[in-house]
Amino acid sequence: MKIHEYQGKELLRKFGVVVPRGVFCQSVDEAVKAAESLGGKVWVVKAQIHAGGRGKGGGVKLARSLDEVRQYAGQILGMQLVTHQTGPDGQKVRRLLVEEGADIRKEYYLAVLTDRKTQKVAVMASSEGGMEIEEVAQHSPEKILTAYVDPIDGLSDAQATELATGIGIPAGSVARAVVALKGLYACYMETDASLAEINPLILEGDGTIKALDAKFNFDDNALYRIPDIFAYRDIDEEDANEIEASKFGLAYISLDGNIGCLVNGAGLAMATMDVIKLYGGEPANFLDVGGGASAEKVTEAFKIMLKNDNVKGILVNIFGGIMKCDTIANGVMAAVRQTQLKVPLVVRMKGTNEELGKQLLRDSGLPIIPADTMAEAAEKIVAAVR
Ligand code: ADP
Ligand code: MG
Repeated sequence: MKIHEYQGKELLRKFGVVVPRGVFCQSVDEAVKAAESLGGKVWVVKAQIHAGGRGKGGGVKLARSLDEVRQYAGQILGMQLVTHQTGPDGQKVRRLLVEEGADIRKEYYLAVLTDRKTQKVAVMASSEGGMEIEEVAQHSPEKILTAYVDPIDGLSDAQATELATGIGIPAGSVARAVVALKGLYACYMETDASLAEINPLILEGDGTIKALDAKFNFDDNALYRIPDIFAYRDIDEEDANEIEASKFGLAYISLDGNIGCLVNGAGLAMATMDVIKLYGGEPANFLDVGGGASAEKVTEAFKIMLKNDNVKGILVNIFGGIMKCDTIANGVMAAVRQTQLKVPLVVRMKGTNEELGKQLLRDSGLPIIPADTMAEAAEKIVAAVR
Protein backbone atom coordinates (compact mmCIF):
# COMPACT_ATOMS: atom_id res chain seq x y z
CA MET A 1 0.00 0.00 0.00
CA LYS A 2 1.12 3.54 -0.75
CA ILE A 3 0.18 6.75 1.02
CA HIS A 4 0.21 10.46 0.17
CA GLU A 5 3.08 12.82 0.87
CA TYR A 6 1.12 14.74 3.53
CA GLN A 7 0.44 11.48 5.37
CA GLY A 8 4.07 10.43 5.05
CA LYS A 9 5.15 13.75 6.54
CA GLU A 10 2.73 13.28 9.42
CA LEU A 11 4.46 9.96 10.13
CA LEU A 12 7.95 11.41 9.80
CA ARG A 13 7.09 14.21 12.21
CA LYS A 14 6.02 11.62 14.80
CA PHE A 15 9.47 10.07 14.49
CA GLY A 16 11.30 13.33 15.03
CA VAL A 17 12.11 14.21 11.41
CA VAL A 18 11.71 17.92 10.71
CA VAL A 19 9.18 18.64 7.94
CA PRO A 20 7.77 21.95 6.66
CA ARG A 21 4.55 23.20 8.26
CA GLY A 22 1.73 22.40 5.89
CA VAL A 23 -2.01 21.96 5.55
CA PHE A 24 -3.92 19.30 3.65
CA CYS A 25 -6.62 20.82 1.39
CA GLN A 26 -9.36 19.67 -0.94
CA SER A 27 -10.53 22.94 -2.45
CA VAL A 28 -9.09 26.21 -3.76
CA ASP A 29 -10.63 28.19 -0.90
CA GLU A 30 -9.14 25.84 1.64
CA ALA A 31 -5.75 26.26 -0.04
CA VAL A 32 -5.88 30.05 0.23
CA LYS A 33 -7.00 29.86 3.87
CA ALA A 34 -4.19 27.39 4.55
CA ALA A 35 -1.60 29.76 3.11
CA GLU A 36 -3.04 32.61 5.18
CA SER A 37 -2.90 30.58 8.36
CA LEU A 38 0.65 29.40 7.65
CA GLY A 39 1.79 32.99 7.12
CA GLY A 40 5.08 33.93 5.46
CA LYS A 41 5.68 35.08 1.91
CA VAL A 42 6.32 31.90 -0.05
CA TRP A 43 4.16 28.79 -0.21
CA VAL A 44 4.33 25.59 -2.17
CA VAL A 45 1.16 24.10 -3.64
CA LYS A 46 1.61 20.35 -4.10
CA ALA A 47 -0.58 17.80 -5.85
CA GLN A 48 -1.19 14.73 -3.67
CA ILE A 49 -1.19 11.59 -5.81
CA HIS A 50 0.40 8.21 -5.24
CA ALA A 51 3.25 8.85 -7.67
CA GLY A 52 6.53 10.71 -7.71
CA GLY A 53 7.88 13.10 -10.32
CA ARG A 54 5.05 15.58 -9.63
CA GLY A 55 7.37 18.57 -9.81
CA LYS A 56 8.37 17.89 -13.43
CA GLY A 57 4.77 17.19 -14.38
CA GLY A 58 3.55 20.57 -13.10
CA GLY A 59 2.10 19.29 -9.83
CA VAL A 60 4.37 21.30 -7.49
CA LYS A 61 4.28 25.12 -7.73
CA LEU A 62 5.97 27.84 -5.76
CA ALA A 63 3.55 30.70 -4.99
CA ARG A 64 4.75 34.16 -3.96
CA SER A 65 1.36 35.67 -3.11
CA LEU A 66 -2.06 34.49 -1.96
CA ASP A 67 -3.33 35.21 -5.49
CA GLU A 68 -0.75 32.81 -6.85
CA VAL A 69 -1.77 30.23 -4.28
CA ARG A 70 -5.35 30.58 -5.54
CA GLN A 71 -4.23 30.38 -9.17
CA TYR A 72 -2.00 27.30 -8.73
CA ALA A 73 -4.46 25.47 -6.50
CA GLY A 74 -7.09 26.01 -9.21
CA GLN A 75 -4.74 24.73 -11.90
CA ILE A 76 -3.59 21.67 -10.01
CA LEU A 77 -6.87 20.50 -8.43
CA GLY A 78 -8.70 18.37 -10.93
CA MET A 79 -5.78 18.19 -13.38
CA GLN A 80 -4.78 14.90 -14.92
CA LEU A 81 -1.20 14.80 -13.67
CA VAL A 82 1.18 12.78 -15.81
CA THR A 83 4.55 11.76 -14.37
CA HIS A 84 7.03 9.00 -15.17
CA GLN A 85 5.30 6.94 -12.46
CA THR A 86 1.63 7.42 -13.44
CA GLY A 87 1.56 5.93 -16.92
CA PRO A 88 0.45 7.92 -20.00
CA ASP A 89 -3.10 8.63 -18.76
CA GLY A 90 -1.89 10.26 -15.58
CA GLN A 91 -3.72 10.48 -12.30
CA LYS A 92 -6.51 12.88 -11.41
CA VAL A 93 -5.56 15.30 -8.60
CA ARG A 94 -8.18 15.46 -5.84
CA ARG A 95 -6.03 16.55 -2.92
CA LEU A 96 -3.46 19.23 -2.21
CA LEU A 97 -0.80 20.00 0.33
CA VAL A 98 -0.06 23.68 0.90
CA GLU A 99 3.13 24.21 2.84
CA GLU A 100 5.61 26.87 3.75
CA GLY A 101 8.35 27.47 1.21
CA ALA A 102 11.70 26.15 2.35
CA ASP A 103 15.03 27.94 2.09
CA ILE A 104 16.82 25.29 0.06
CA ARG A 105 20.63 25.41 0.08
CA LYS A 106 21.21 21.85 -1.01
CA GLU A 107 19.06 18.79 -1.79
CA TYR A 108 20.03 15.28 -0.65
CA TYR A 109 18.45 11.84 -0.93
CA LEU A 110 17.64 9.34 1.83
CA ALA A 111 15.92 5.97 1.68
CA VAL A 112 15.43 2.90 3.81
CA LEU A 113 14.42 -0.32 2.13
CA THR A 114 14.43 -4.06 2.49
CA ASP A 115 17.47 -5.67 0.87
CA ARG A 116 16.66 -9.28 0.11
CA LYS A 117 20.20 -10.13 -1.00
CA THR A 118 21.86 -9.33 2.30
CA GLN A 119 18.70 -9.99 4.34
CA LYS A 120 19.29 -6.65 5.96
CA VAL A 121 17.86 -3.18 5.92
CA ALA A 122 19.56 -0.94 3.37
CA VAL A 123 19.90 2.69 4.39
CA MET A 124 20.83 4.74 1.35
CA ALA A 125 21.99 8.33 1.13
CA SER A 126 23.13 10.53 -1.71
CA SER A 127 24.35 14.04 -2.33
CA GLU A 128 22.24 14.05 -5.51
CA GLY A 129 18.81 14.81 -4.10
CA GLY A 130 15.77 16.07 -5.97
CA MET A 131 16.58 13.92 -9.01
CA GLU A 132 15.34 10.50 -9.93
CA ILE A 133 17.51 8.13 -7.95
CA GLU A 134 17.43 5.59 -10.81
CA GLU A 135 19.31 8.14 -12.94
CA VAL A 136 21.92 8.67 -10.24
CA ALA A 137 22.30 4.92 -9.82
CA GLN A 138 22.90 4.55 -13.55
CA HIS A 139 25.21 7.49 -14.23
CA SER A 140 27.05 8.03 -10.95
CA PRO A 141 26.52 5.05 -8.67
CA GLU A 142 29.52 6.15 -6.56
CA LYS A 143 27.35 9.02 -5.33
CA ILE A 144 25.00 6.64 -3.55
CA LEU A 145 26.19 5.41 -0.16
CA THR A 146 24.55 2.40 1.44
CA ALA A 147 24.75 1.08 4.99
CA TYR A 148 23.43 -2.44 5.55
CA VAL A 149 21.81 -2.64 8.94
CA ASP A 150 21.07 -5.77 10.90
CA PRO A 151 17.49 -5.27 12.12
CA ILE A 152 18.44 -6.74 15.50
CA ASP A 153 21.10 -4.07 16.05
CA GLY A 154 19.35 -1.13 14.38
CA LEU A 155 21.02 1.85 12.74
CA SER A 156 23.93 2.98 14.91
CA ASP A 157 25.02 6.56 15.48
CA ALA A 158 28.33 5.68 13.84
CA GLN A 159 26.65 4.39 10.67
CA ALA A 160 24.32 7.38 10.48
CA THR A 161 27.18 9.82 11.00
CA GLU A 162 29.24 8.11 8.32
CA LEU A 163 26.39 8.41 5.85
CA ALA A 164 25.71 12.04 6.71
CA THR A 165 29.34 13.12 6.37
CA GLY A 166 29.79 10.87 3.34
CA ILE A 167 27.18 12.78 1.34
CA GLY A 168 28.71 16.10 2.28
CA ILE A 169 26.38 17.43 4.99
CA PRO A 170 28.26 20.36 6.59
CA ALA A 171 29.73 19.60 10.03
CA GLY A 172 27.33 21.94 11.82
CA SER A 173 24.31 20.01 10.51
CA VAL A 174 25.56 16.42 10.78
CA ALA A 175 23.89 15.87 14.17
CA ARG A 176 20.57 17.00 12.67
CA ALA A 177 21.02 14.72 9.67
CA VAL A 178 21.68 11.83 12.08
CA VAL A 179 18.35 12.59 13.77
CA ALA A 180 16.64 12.51 10.35
CA LEU A 181 18.34 9.22 9.40
CA LYS A 182 17.51 7.55 12.69
CA GLY A 183 13.96 8.88 12.60
CA LEU A 184 13.43 7.58 9.06
CA TYR A 185 14.88 4.21 10.04
CA ALA A 186 12.66 3.93 13.15
CA CYS A 187 9.61 4.96 11.14
CA TYR A 188 10.36 2.30 8.51
CA MET A 189 10.73 -0.40 11.18
CA GLU A 190 7.70 0.53 13.27
CA THR A 191 5.31 0.81 10.34
CA ASP A 192 6.28 -2.39 8.48
CA ALA A 193 7.30 -0.27 5.51
CA SER A 194 9.11 -1.87 2.60
CA LEU A 195 10.32 1.53 1.41
CA ALA A 196 10.64 4.87 3.17
CA GLU A 197 12.17 7.62 1.05
CA ILE A 198 12.90 11.31 1.52
CA ASN A 199 13.74 12.99 -1.77
CA PRO A 200 14.76 15.69 -1.28
CA LEU A 201 16.09 16.01 2.23
CA ILE A 202 17.31 19.58 2.37
CA LEU A 203 19.80 21.80 4.11
CA GLU A 204 18.42 25.25 4.88
CA GLY A 205 20.33 28.51 5.25
CA ASP A 206 20.24 28.27 9.05
CA GLY A 207 21.59 24.71 9.04
CA THR A 208 18.21 22.98 9.51
CA ILE A 209 17.82 19.56 7.92
CA LYS A 210 14.26 19.04 6.61
CA ALA A 211 12.31 16.45 4.67
CA LEU A 212 10.62 18.17 1.70
CA ASP A 213 9.04 15.02 0.29
CA ALA A 214 8.01 11.67 1.77
CA LYS A 215 7.30 8.42 0.02
CA PHE A 216 6.27 5.16 1.67
CA ASN A 217 5.36 1.66 0.56
CA PHE A 218 3.92 -0.72 3.14
CA ASP A 219 3.78 -4.47 3.19
CA ASP A 220 0.11 -5.29 2.52
CA ASN A 221 0.43 -8.47 4.56
CA ALA A 222 1.27 -6.42 7.65
CA LEU A 223 -1.58 -3.91 7.35
CA TYR A 224 -3.79 -5.86 9.74
CA ARG A 225 -1.43 -5.09 12.61
CA ILE A 226 -0.86 -1.43 11.78
CA PRO A 227 -4.40 0.01 11.70
CA ASP A 228 -3.12 3.60 11.87
CA ILE A 229 -1.37 3.08 8.56
CA PHE A 230 -4.25 1.19 7.00
CA ALA A 231 -6.47 4.18 7.83
CA TYR A 232 -4.32 6.21 5.41
CA ARG A 233 -5.53 4.11 2.49
CA ASP A 234 -6.94 6.19 -0.39
CA ILE A 235 -8.79 3.97 -2.80
CA ASP A 236 -9.18 6.84 -5.30
CA GLU A 237 -5.51 6.24 -6.06
CA GLU A 238 -5.83 2.51 -6.59
CA ASP A 239 -6.85 0.51 -9.64
CA ALA A 240 -10.63 -0.05 -9.48
CA ASN A 241 -10.30 -3.57 -10.90
CA GLU A 242 -7.67 -4.53 -8.34
CA ILE A 243 -9.97 -3.37 -5.53
CA GLU A 244 -12.91 -5.30 -7.00
CA ALA A 245 -10.72 -8.40 -7.30
CA SER A 246 -9.54 -8.18 -3.68
CA LYS A 247 -13.19 -8.33 -2.54
CA PHE A 248 -13.38 -11.83 -4.05
CA GLY A 249 -10.03 -12.91 -2.69
CA LEU A 250 -8.46 -12.76 -6.14
CA ALA A 251 -4.92 -11.51 -6.59
CA TYR A 252 -5.21 -9.30 -9.69
CA ILE A 253 -2.77 -6.78 -11.13
CA SER A 254 -3.45 -4.79 -14.32
CA LEU A 255 -0.76 -4.85 -16.98
CA ASP A 256 -0.37 -3.23 -20.40
CA GLY A 257 -0.86 -6.16 -22.79
CA ASN A 258 -3.95 -7.64 -24.46
CA ILE A 259 -4.06 -11.27 -23.28
CA GLY A 260 -6.04 -11.82 -20.09
CA CYS A 261 -4.67 -14.67 -17.96
CA LEU A 262 -6.62 -16.66 -15.40
CA VAL A 263 -4.37 -18.98 -13.44
CA ASN A 264 -4.30 -20.72 -10.08
CA GLY A 265 -1.18 -20.20 -8.01
CA ALA A 266 1.12 -17.20 -8.17
CA GLY A 267 4.06 -19.21 -9.52
CA LEU A 268 2.05 -20.70 -12.35
CA ALA A 269 0.61 -17.24 -13.07
CA MET A 270 4.12 -15.82 -13.41
CA ALA A 271 5.19 -18.73 -15.62
CA THR A 272 2.09 -18.26 -17.78
CA MET A 273 2.93 -14.61 -18.35
CA ASP A 274 6.49 -15.62 -19.26
CA VAL A 275 5.28 -18.17 -21.79
CA ILE A 276 2.90 -15.65 -23.37
CA LYS A 277 5.82 -13.27 -23.78
CA LEU A 278 8.01 -16.05 -25.13
CA TYR A 279 5.52 -16.54 -27.95
CA GLY A 280 5.44 -12.82 -28.71
CA GLY A 281 2.31 -11.85 -26.79
CA GLU A 282 1.77 -9.45 -23.88
CA PRO A 283 -0.27 -10.29 -20.78
CA ALA A 284 -3.08 -7.86 -19.85
CA ASN A 285 -3.00 -8.87 -16.22
CA PHE A 286 -1.65 -11.08 -13.50
CA LEU A 287 -4.50 -13.07 -11.96
CA ASP A 288 -4.23 -15.77 -9.35
CA VAL A 289 -7.60 -17.27 -8.40
CA GLY A 290 -6.00 -19.21 -5.56
CA GLY A 291 -5.84 -22.85 -4.72
CA GLY A 292 -9.45 -23.58 -3.83
CA ALA A 293 -11.38 -21.36 -6.22
CA SER A 294 -15.10 -22.00 -6.68
CA ALA A 295 -16.96 -21.78 -9.99
CA GLU A 296 -18.37 -18.44 -8.79
CA LYS A 297 -14.90 -17.05 -8.16
CA VAL A 298 -13.84 -18.01 -11.68
CA THR A 299 -16.87 -16.17 -13.09
CA GLU A 300 -16.00 -13.04 -11.09
CA ALA A 301 -12.43 -13.31 -12.30
CA PHE A 302 -13.63 -13.32 -15.92
CA LYS A 303 -15.78 -10.25 -15.32
CA ILE A 304 -12.88 -8.35 -13.81
CA MET A 305 -10.51 -9.29 -16.64
CA LEU A 306 -13.06 -8.21 -19.25
CA LYS A 307 -13.47 -4.75 -17.68
CA ASN A 308 -10.12 -4.01 -19.28
CA ASP A 309 -10.95 -2.92 -22.84
CA ASN A 310 -7.50 -3.91 -24.05
CA VAL A 311 -8.23 -7.61 -23.54
CA LYS A 312 -8.42 -9.28 -26.94
CA GLY A 313 -8.17 -12.86 -25.78
CA ILE A 314 -8.08 -14.97 -22.63
CA LEU A 315 -5.84 -17.80 -21.56
CA VAL A 316 -6.99 -20.04 -18.72
CA ASN A 317 -4.18 -22.15 -17.32
CA ILE A 318 -5.15 -24.34 -14.38
CA PHE A 319 -3.38 -26.99 -12.43
CA GLY A 320 -5.95 -29.13 -10.69
CA GLY A 321 -4.59 -30.08 -7.30
CA ILE A 322 -6.99 -29.24 -4.50
CA MET A 323 -9.01 -27.51 -7.18
CA LYS A 324 -10.68 -29.93 -9.55
CA CYS A 325 -10.62 -29.40 -13.30
CA ASP A 326 -14.37 -30.04 -13.61
CA THR A 327 -15.05 -27.25 -11.11
CA ILE A 328 -12.95 -24.93 -13.22
CA ALA A 329 -14.68 -26.10 -16.40
CA ASN A 330 -18.06 -25.30 -14.85
CA GLY A 331 -16.83 -21.89 -13.77
CA VAL A 332 -15.41 -21.15 -17.22
CA MET A 333 -18.62 -22.21 -18.97
CA ALA A 334 -20.77 -20.11 -16.63
CA ALA A 335 -18.46 -17.15 -17.15
CA VAL A 336 -18.53 -17.45 -20.95
CA ARG A 337 -22.32 -17.50 -20.89
CA GLN A 338 -22.78 -14.75 -18.32
CA THR A 339 -20.31 -12.37 -19.92
CA GLN A 340 -21.34 -13.34 -23.46
CA LEU A 341 -17.67 -13.66 -24.19
CA LYS A 342 -16.71 -12.14 -27.54
CA VAL A 343 -12.94 -12.71 -27.48
CA PRO A 344 -11.09 -15.97 -28.16
CA LEU A 345 -10.57 -18.23 -25.14
CA VAL A 346 -7.91 -20.91 -24.77
CA VAL A 347 -8.18 -23.32 -21.85
CA ARG A 348 -5.44 -25.60 -20.64
CA MET A 349 -6.10 -27.84 -17.64
CA LYS A 350 -3.96 -30.49 -15.95
CA GLY A 351 -4.43 -32.62 -12.89
CA THR A 352 -7.38 -33.80 -10.82
CA ASN A 353 -10.45 -34.69 -12.92
CA GLU A 354 -8.73 -33.43 -16.05
CA GLU A 355 -10.64 -35.70 -18.43
CA LEU A 356 -13.96 -34.84 -16.85
CA GLY A 357 -13.22 -31.13 -17.16
CA LYS A 358 -12.17 -31.39 -20.79
CA GLN A 359 -15.26 -33.43 -21.59
CA LEU A 360 -17.51 -30.75 -20.03
CA LEU A 361 -15.90 -28.07 -22.18
CA ARG A 362 -16.17 -30.17 -25.37
CA ASP A 363 -19.85 -30.94 -24.68
CA SER A 364 -20.71 -27.32 -23.90
CA GLY A 365 -20.80 -26.30 -27.55
CA LEU A 366 -19.00 -23.08 -26.58
CA PRO A 367 -16.16 -21.81 -28.80
CA ILE A 368 -13.42 -22.74 -26.36
CA ILE A 369 -10.01 -23.58 -27.83
CA PRO A 370 -8.45 -26.49 -25.92
CA ALA A 371 -4.70 -26.86 -25.38
CA ASP A 372 -2.69 -29.59 -23.76
CA THR A 373 0.64 -27.98 -22.90
CA MET A 374 1.50 -24.49 -21.74
CA ALA A 375 3.48 -23.87 -24.93
CA GLU A 376 0.56 -24.93 -27.10
CA ALA A 377 -1.83 -22.77 -25.06
CA ALA A 378 0.38 -19.69 -25.37
CA GLU A 379 0.95 -20.22 -29.08
CA LYS A 380 -2.77 -20.58 -29.69
CA ILE A 381 -3.86 -17.49 -27.75
CA VAL A 382 -1.10 -15.35 -29.25
CA ALA A 383 -2.18 -16.46 -32.75
CA ALA A 384 -5.86 -15.87 -31.89
CA VAL A 385 -5.39 -12.24 -30.80
CA ARG A 386 -3.31 -11.34 -33.85
P1 ADP B 1 8.16 15.09 -6.62
O1 ADP B 1 9.29 14.26 -6.13
O2 ADP B 1 6.90 14.32 -6.77
O3 ADP B 1 8.51 15.88 -7.85
P2 ADP B 1 8.75 16.89 -4.39
O4 ADP B 1 7.96 17.01 -3.15
O5 ADP B 1 10.06 16.22 -4.27
O6 ADP B 1 7.82 16.21 -5.49
O7 ADP B 1 8.95 18.34 -4.97
C1 ADP B 1 9.71 18.60 -6.14
C2 ADP B 1 10.68 19.76 -5.88
O8 ADP B 1 9.97 20.91 -5.49
C3 ADP B 1 11.66 19.48 -4.76
O9 ADP B 1 12.81 18.82 -5.22
C4 ADP B 1 11.97 20.88 -4.26
O10 ADP B 1 13.01 21.44 -5.06
C5 ADP B 1 10.69 21.65 -4.53
N1 ADP B 1 9.90 21.75 -3.28
C6 ADP B 1 9.06 20.84 -2.78
N2 ADP B 1 8.53 21.24 -1.60
C7 ADP B 1 9.05 22.46 -1.35
C8 ADP B 1 8.94 23.41 -0.29
N3 ADP B 1 8.14 23.21 0.77
N4 ADP B 1 9.65 24.56 -0.38
C9 ADP B 1 10.45 24.80 -1.44
N5 ADP B 1 10.61 23.96 -2.45
C10 ADP B 1 9.94 22.80 -2.43
MG1 MG C 1 10.41 14.12 -4.52
